[in-house]
Amino acid sequence: MHLLIMGPPGAGKGTQAGRIGEHYKIPAISTGDMFRAMRDSDTPLARQVQDIMASGAYVPDDVTNQVVADRLVADDCAGGFLLDGYPRTLDQVAFLDGVLKEADCELDAVVSLAVDPDELVARLTRRSATDGRADDSPEAIRTRQQVYVDQTAPLLEVYRQRGLLVEVDGLGEVDEVTRRLFSALDRHAGSTPATSAS
Ligand code: AMP
Repeated sequence: MHLLIMGPPGAGKGTQAGRIGEHYKIPAISTGDMFRAMRDSDTPLARQVQDIMASGAYVPDDVTNQVVADRLVADDCAGGFLLDGYPRTLDQVAFLDGVLKEADCELDAVVSLAVDPDELVARLTRRSATDGRADDSPEAIRTRQQVYVDQTAPLLEVYRQRGLLVEVDGLGEVDEVTRRLFSALDRHAGSTPATSAS
């Protein structure tokens, strides 16, 4: 199973990604988590990444692509993976296409979690009170939403045209969204012609 999960900041990607990973027994790989983990290393690159993240902007494609490429060669990705928060730009889509081609595998589905923009800001503001993320400040929240609209939302159309997009309403209780998500993925699998083993 090779999956992506996309959605605007605050849509609940991380939570749902964990559940999808458990269900299909594949690693849920979050580029945001990997960048946050760099906080512990005191290198110029790590400091640059932290500053970019705190502002709500995207980490440069070459840095992000390299981090993902290094992660996808790990043994636990041999049976598939779920990428959470990657790709986010057209350049990253092209890079991922190359990585998948080289590994001779294809994406099975791209889950898109849709949530109303006002609800997103409310969620992120609540999260800033509990999680203390530097990029949950009001200004960074606005930047992240705008960057998503400008750079990442267009990717949905790319995957829709490839017949991979599985759209799920992300509004409501977490369990309810999970149920919706699995039934949408099952429907998608049922409507996709089985790929030949050759
Ligand atoms: P997330 O936890 O997915 O909301 O990501 C948090 C932050 O990490 C983003 O606002 C970006 O600064 C950075 N980031 C995560 N994934 C990517 C990506 N695919 N491309 C560029 N920046 C990313």
